[in-house]
Amino acid sequence: MSEQPRSRRQTRAAILGQLLQSGGMFRPPLAKAVRLSEASLSRILFDLKAEGLVEEIRRPVPYFGGPSALVSLDRSVALGAIEIAGQWLSVGIGALSGELQETKRLALPEHPTVQSVGRVFHEALTVLRDWTRRRHVKLVQIGISVPGLGRLSVSGNAIIPCDIARIRAMLSEMFRDVPAEFTNSVVAHATFHRCRMEGYPFSGAHLFVFVGQGVAGAWMDDTIATDGAQVVELGHMVFGDGGPLCRCGHHGCVEAYASLPALAALLGVPEPDLHELRNDWVTTVPLSSQVRQELRLRLFRLGLAIGNTLNVKPSRAIAISGWPSLLPPEDRTSLLQGIDSSLLGGLDAAALAVAFVPPSTGHDPRAALAFAACCLASRGGMPAEATEAA
Ligand SMILES: [Zn+2]
Repeated sequence: MSEQPRSRRQTRAAILGQLLQSGGMFRPPLAKAVRLSEASLSRILFDLKAEGLVEEIRRPVPYFGGPSALVSLDRSVALGAIEIAGQWLSVGIGALSGELQETKRLALPEHPTVQSVGRVFHEALTVLRDWTRRRHVKLVQIGISVPGLGRLSVSGNAIIPCDIARIRAMLSEMFRDVPAEFTNSVVAHATFHRCRMEGYPFSGAHLFVFVGQGVAGAWMDDTIATDGAQVVELGHMVFGDGGPLCRCGHHGCVEAYASLPALAALLGVPEPDLHELRNDWVTTVPLSSQVRQELRLRLFRLGLAIGNTLNVKPSRAIAISGWPSLLPPEDRTSLLQGIDSSLLGGLDAAALAVAFVPPSTGHDPRAALAFAACCLASRGGMPAEATEAA
């Protein structure tokens, strides 16, 4: 963390980010983590509690004379979550703790267009608005996760036709005064892993690789911040001419070999069945030696893409999320060999920590909900356009 003076917003963001990542802390370790005196922390917590963002619950004392009240994010804060996952657009309303109170899946058309995707978004926003009216809650933040969204593709998304300006117009009409943020799916999943999955291995800067419906990466910052994560489209790295057609329109992308749809095709299992099996396909679908060999080849290729990504921008740690994590170590070795074959200087365990984390697909819209919580924490729980006051 930098030692520069922080604004009120940054200090509040640091506190809320810590609480989001930890799920709750006693005052002394929280003060230490955000580099504040207990007196200063006390003043800020007083405000955050008055605003209904933070609560303090009495807990059994961890040691004699120790703190007895656990500071955590207020469970009554309502967040909206919208997530495109596969052939669905999921909408939900949930809490800062990650718990979903309402959720609904709306089918996307088989051949989506900007118009038809816009209509499904409108339907989702109507459902969300009805819930808030029925439950008498005001949303504090809406988080929206869209695959293929990036700085270069805001106007023309190569993965899913989606006019963000048009959806923003719907949002400002139906949810006036509610801050809404869009992000790429990989950032939402990375946030979900970091804040919600037990035992996530890294808290500092690292590369998060998502292997799901698509394949992508996100550079994760030292701290939890919505502007800290940057998307890297490593799944669309093309190897030579030819190869299978990718949903981006090119041939031979890593994604066309290693995504869940590509895996379903290789295993000869229809994609919906593969989703149904969740993580059990590894034990229930028998692999012929030929299929296993091809699977390893694809993991090797994915490893090459990751190694090449690290050649462009080095990192000391990577977390790989998705189906490769379910495989036994002897299969995953192929991925590590791929990294070793492309990373400058080879794969050195002392210089690069590689962790496999379980898949986070199938939980939609929980990734968008985690992203919404992160957005709220990143702006210190203050209005999006509030002026900075030191
Ligand atoms: Zn592609």
